Amino acid sequence: MQKKILIAGGGLAGLTAAIHLSRQGFDVTIIEKNSYPHHKVCGEYISNEVLPYLDWLDANPLLHLDASNITHLEFSTASGKKINTQLPLGGFGISRFLLDEFLYNKAIQQGCKLIQDNITDISYNNDGFEVITSSGQNYAVAIVLGAFGKRSNLDIKLERNFINKKSPWLAVKQHYKGNFPDDMVGLYCFMGGYCGVSKVEDDTLNICYLTDFASFKKYKDIDEHRKKVLYKNPVLKEIFEQSTPIFDKPVTISQISFEDKKTVEDHIIMIGDTAGLINPLCGNGMAMAIHSAQLASDLITAFLQNEITRTEMEQQYTLQWNEHFMTRITMGKRIAKLLQQQRLTPLATMAFSIFPGLLKMIINKTHGHPIKVNAAHEYNA
Ligand SMILES: Cc1cc2nc3c(=O)[nH]c(=O)nc-3n(C[C@H](O)[C@H](O)[C@H](O)COP(=O)(O)OP(=O)(O)OC[C@H]3O[C@@H](n4cnc5c(N)ncnc54)[C@H](O)[C@@H]3O)c2cc1C
Repeated sequence: MQKKILIAGGGLAGLTAAIHLSRQGFDVTIIEKNSYPHHKVCGEYISNEVLPYLDWLDANPLLHLDASNITHLEFSTASGKKINTQLPLGGFGISRFLLDEFLYNKAIQQGCKLIQDNITDISYNNDGFEVITSSGQNYAVAIVLGAFGKRSNLDIKLERNFINKKSPWLAVKQHYKGNFPDDMVGLYCFMGGYCGVSKVEDDTLNICYLTDFASFKKYKDIDEHRKKVLYKNPVLKEIFEQSTPIFDKPVTISQISFEDKKTVEDHIIMIGDTAGLINPLCGNGMAMAIHSAQLASDLITAFLQNEITRTEMEQQYTLQWNEHFMTRITMGKRIAKLLQQQRLTPLATMAFSIFPGLLKMIINKTHGHPIKVNAAHEYNA
């Protein structure tokens, strides 16, 4: 059997899997529609749980990039009532502009091929895949990893269930120069959404928020919505008023869906947001993207070594994905629902201040443990 692997999408999940699988000696091609580097809508806080695995991949960004070290969380209700706690594992802040480019360079160093093109179709036939791109190229491979993010033309092509359901969320990100503690991530509620604030490299402040489209569309534009809605939280008003934007205009995305997705679809193994999106308030989507790349890469290695069949690879991936990520996703959905009911957040905040362990417990339930590295799957193809 030919052992070519094609990765559809070169974000965090795709690049991590590319480094892992090319490190094992496989013939890996990533097709990514955008060039590197570019800014992405993301809170840019990454849980430290990824570090043992990134070390194993020889791709630990902390050894090369000037990330911020984040140890505390500050939470506030829409009225500005604050509570602060230590993050059990902690994390780091780095822009996607730098992180994705760093991983891209690592993938290239490992011998992975990277092609800039837009994939328009993926089909499975006769124990292999055919992948077609908009430039008219055609690729025949043994494995396709779906790493094309939260929402893509490929979701429509593959007729994935979630794509036709309403997803009324909009996200806005801007980088600023401003004062904010280096070691803290802020999570501040406002009517219809919440806003994350934390430092990335170069003393730069990332402010990224998610809002429901129904409340956003009552206002003329992002500026008016920010001033009339987000500023009602005095904590946010102060942060925004004391900060100076760096980009000409913010980066935005819409139609963010938190619907369940299938982890394997038409034999394509889905990783990162393509397999399922955790609510961003958990600050764990990037860790899940990286971890799911590890789960998939280990199983693909076992399959291509003829240790397991394709069916076993697909079944075990779904089982492992559910085992590692389902509790976090469910917990994220519940907290988001609670925060949407503005009346209940002051009660939750009061409960957190009376029982400080409660907030830590929630953080633990929405995060993983440090990723274990499976040396048994070291392999040279
Ligand atoms: C508002 C917001 C804030 C967030 N904040 C945080 C946070 O602070 N911490 C955290 O851990 N997580 C956060 N997340 C989640 C995190 O951003 C994602 O989980 C993470 O980016 C997933 O990586 P990925 O590789 O799956 O997808 P992506 O990084 O989106 O990569 C997918 C790639 O596929 C490419 N692609 C798509 N279609 C095609 C095609 N047809 N052909 C070729 N290429 C294609 C895209 O161009 C893209 O580069 C946040 C998410 C949102 C929405």
